[in-house]
Amino acid sequence: LAEHILPRRHVVDGQEMVVLFDQGTGAVVTLEPPTWDVLAAADGTRDVEGIRLAARRAGAVTGVTQIAELLRQLHEMGFVAGPTTRRGPPRIVIERTTPAERPIEALPGFALHCDRSGACCRNYATVLMTSDDVDRARRLLPEHHVGEIRGGRLFLPVAGSEPSELSAPAHRDGACGYLETTGACAIHRVGGLAAKPIGCAVFPVTFVDDGATIRASVKTECACVLDSVGGPLDEPLLDPQWQRAGDLPPLVAVTRLHERLAMSSQTTLPVAEARAFVDAWFRLPCPADVAAAAWAMAEALETRGPDAALRTWSAAPAADARAVTPSFRALHRRASRRARDNAGWRSERDAVRTGIEWIAAAALLLSDDAPVAELLADATGPAATEHFYLYAAAFGYALFDRPLAESLRDRAVRMWLARAMGWLVVEGTEAAHRQPLARVDALLRAYGIGNYLDDLATTRTGSTPSTRPD
Ligand code: SF4
Repeated sequence: LAEHILPRRHVVDGQEMVVLFDQGTGAVVTLEPPTWDVLAAADGTRDVEGIRLAARRAGAVTGVTQIAELLRQLHEMGFVAGPTTRRGPPRIVIERTTPAERPIEALPGFALHCDRSGACCRNYATVLMTSDDVDRARRLLPEHHVGEIRGGRLFLPVAGSEPSELSAPAHRDGACGYLETTGACAIHRVGGLAAKPIGCAVFPVTFVDDGATIRASVKTECACVLDSVGGPLDEPLLDPQWQRAGDLPPLVAVTRLHERLAMSSQTTLPVAEARAFVDAWFRLPCPADVAAAAWAMAEALETRGPDAALRTWSAAPAADARAVTPSFRALHRRASRRARDNAGWRSERDAVRTGIEWIAAAALLLSDDAPVAELLADATGPAATEHFYLYAAAFGYALFDRPLAESLRDRAVRMWLARAMGWLVVEGTEAAHRQPLARVDALLRAYGIGNYLDDLATTRTGSTPSTRPD
């Protein structure tokens, strides 16, 4: 399989399947488990008869005609690559260019209180595990199984079909296969926090090196993060021993910023000036309507520059529904397409399926100017939570993944969408319900729905669509 194909083993309502996700197009193909054994044998070193024999040793009985037809179909879909040149033991290297002495600066005024419900283990298509993580999990839980899946079959390569240093464990009804019905992580329960996969142990903290410090912030994709806003500052966000870059465990990724950050579609600033802008911004008081302020600030950044943007933050006019509604329409197109795909194979118990359906329903509601105007006129959002939502993203430079003005419009849309989700009643667990903004953030990023921004840009300019995944 090509590297842009992500294979994942799932148990859905008790039935095992392998799901192939195409990162480039968003296409999804579901396979019977023996078909995966055939693909795993098609590693470029065998002819079709060799694949048949290798698959048979793995327990999959099929014929050369069927194998040739399977490969032809996947090739037509762009799922198959030629043989790669990579041979030898797989390994990963996280190259850290940050000097070991660079200080770590944690998001101020915030302590995380995790409810241990495991809600964040139900959100993502991929749980990354290194080979050490896999060895540890198998040693601690030798009998662990997901449905009938056990042993080495619990893990698939994170991308393509060749064995790799990074693996993804099987899922049960959309949740990580190590999540227990109590909401506990089985690996954590048996081996303690240090035994968890490194990505899970660090989640939801992010590290970004801006040249002066490493800013440690949080992803606002978890209800507990937003629930913790304004709570007691009794727990440090980071391990107290993590004071400098050199103190971080080797596999913790530190993102390095470009030298200049885009403030708008036309302007950039050196990182130090962008940092000063963020710091000045969050010394200002919280506005009454954070979403409206973010939307207006984006407009000011595009047309009048950073100083005017800061003035606008404190005195934002109401947004015009006609300018906002196209964003909800574009978002609805992406979310409803994903919801349709999910209904074809995900369980009704799957939190990804129910969450995306919730988002699609709210976006559909907001596809007309009248309900959008009603939403914008009601400026009673959860201001402290939404203010923190922007602050955490700005402090950790997540708002600079795109030009800041575009990110601010996107964040305003997400805040409005989450408010509208509160109008709708859906089935679900408590954690999934109580912070719709966290659901929006997690699912828009993890399932490509956030790239509705590219569709909007394409509509505006008539240019070729971006190649970002669906
Ligand atoms: S390995 Fe544990 S912490 Fe990580 S996603 Fe799975 S259940 Fe959650």
